Amino acid sequence: MRSKYLSGFLLAFGAAVPLRAQTPRAAPPVSAPVANLRYEVGFDSASAARRTLKVAVTFDVGGSGPVLLSFPAWTPGSYEVVNFARYVSGFVAAAGDKALDWDKLDHDTWRIDPAGARSVTVRFDYRANTLDNAAAWSRPDFAFVNGTNIFPYPEGRGYAFPATVTVKTQPGWLVATGMQSAGGAGTYREANYHDLVDKPFFIGRFDLDSMQVGGRWNRLATYPAGAMTGPPRSLLWDQIARTVPAMAAVFGETPWRTYTTLLVFTQEVGGGSALEHANSHVGIYNPGFIGNPLLASITDHEIFHAWNVKRLRPADLWPYRYSGPQPTPWLWVSEGITDYYADLALVRGGVVDSAQFLGLTGEKMARVADGPATALEDASLSTWIEPVDGTHYQYYPKGSLAGFILDVLIRDGSDNRRSLDDVLRELYRATYRKGRGFTAADWWPAVSRAAGGRSFAEFHARHIDGREPFPWDDILPRAGLRMASDTLREPQVGLATTQDTAGAIVVEGVLPGGVAEAAGVKTGDQLIALGEVEILDPNFGAAFRTRFGKNEGDSLPIRVRRGADTLTLQGVVRLVSRVEARLDFDPGAGEKAVRIRRGILRGTVAGARGR
Ligand SMILES: [Zn+2]
Repeated sequence: MRSKYLSGFLLAFGAAVPLRAQTPRAAPPVSAPVANLRYEVGFDSASAARRTLKVAVTFDVGGSGPVLLSFPAWTPGSYEVVNFARYVSGFVAAAGDKALDWDKLDHDTWRIDPAGARSVTVRFDYRANTLDNAAAWSRPDFAFVNGTNIFPYPEGRGYAFPATVTVKTQPGWLVATGMQSAGGAGTYREANYHDLVDKPFFIGRFDLDSMQVGGRWNRLATYPAGAMTGPPRSLLWDQIARTVPAMAAVFGETPWRTYTTLLVFTQEVGGGSALEHANSHVGIYNPGFIGNPLLASITDHEIFHAWNVKRLRPADLWPYRYSGPQPTPWLWVSEGITDYYADLALVRGGVVDSAQFLGLTGEKMARVADGPATALEDASLSTWIEPVDGTHYQYYPKGSLAGFILDVLIRDGSDNRRSLDDVLRELYRATYRKGRGFTAADWWPAVSRAAGGRSFAEFHARHIDGREPFPWDDILPRAGLRMASDTLREPQVGLATTQDTAGAIVVEGVLPGGVAEAAGVKTGDQLIALGEVEILDPNFGAAFRTRFGKNEGDSLPIRVRRGADTLTLQGVVRLVSRVEARLDFDPGAGEKAVRIRRGILRGTVAGARGR
């Protein structure tokens, strides 16, 4: 949106020249000073049965007046307001044996009267039944929880305070977290609140092992125990070992001492999602992801975030404010370009080949082409309101493609001597390492310098701030690529489906005269499998086409759940032709374009030979 620059200007001007006296505003609430914060988290089979965590917070009180403890409204990286205070119950405050009065100052702030006491403890139960990366969830033998959920902070006192955390669980249960050990078993310490709430916990029974990658420890925790063992676990480890060095090469450093990948596998979700932190991430997946390349791809995306968004980040996102939304127009960089580098890490690390990389890029092109025209900056800003017009998550695929295009244009403008890697590395050093976030005044000049001085003002106006489609006819030849089209013969079932809130695939419509109608499929049926191909298999499309794409008239059993019954309906394979666009190497590409293409795929820069 252009208007936001205009309003920014007016705001600056208005602040300098007040036209009339402002109405006095009430000062924001400030807690009495508190220090020496100690959080205690209890979870055992008894609390698991009630799906709650037992939390205690003990602190020293200085000065006079009430202590104000607030809960975050959101978890950084998950750009939606949740208001974790809603899951609190049984709140009590005490000084020694003496109960203290409390009430609420607002919806997420508890106001406690210390009544002269110098040390206060508050206790509450926290409901752990939300299956979301940003939240807390439990089973009879397990819980995961984010610090934003259960660690209230003193209102108006900043976030610079150190704190300790003690996790109390039962014998034989494990604790995994990226938090720094404070020495004792289950005791941790962080220097400030931002780090305290950025290190989620796994507590209970789960599989945990570790491996050195690039000289640093990586840990892998997976729930339930036994869910991911043997070859699929070795495969993910191999993928992590291949891709992390490719990511570290972009920035020239690995910024963690230990990185912890925390994965939950459950049938309660149909797909997979994950949430990044500075030295860990939490992923929640359908068990169909185990052994699937998509798991490596999402894992890469989250690990790359340890550099891009947890360290190199827009100024709008630093420092975090936990009390409410913190919009930024830069999620196309923080999320989209992270997704570009997840694909690059896969091909540079040898997990996928160049044809598969082009396939991933081509899929993103198709997703953007199929979606509504949206500006990357607008989609970034709007994520907090979850727009329903199809633009909500466009900053992922379209931002990824914007990164790809910038990479091509930088390499083209510099005769392949510079790349988008250089821009990220330069900004990481010039902004994150200097303790600040980046702005447009950092980003675009860095891109322009890397591209040999080329201006990106028009590109920004048309394709980042604006809604114009990307100029692929101009971009692809510069990287030795072209669009090709394939005519495919595919099995068609004649069904429209949707995923319900529980993750099930439900029939929304049945094509008249189609295979499904002839077999007796009805609207409202829950689809379970086509033949032996499970509908929730993350690889469903490819597996279905391979299995049933051969002969017309072959038997095609359609397994559905209708009410309490599971039915197997008998269909037959019908093949239809479809033309599919595919991103491909251009066999007629010139020498420079070939070098650029090779540089992108290998993560290298090099000019023309002999120069
Ligand atoms: Zn992300």
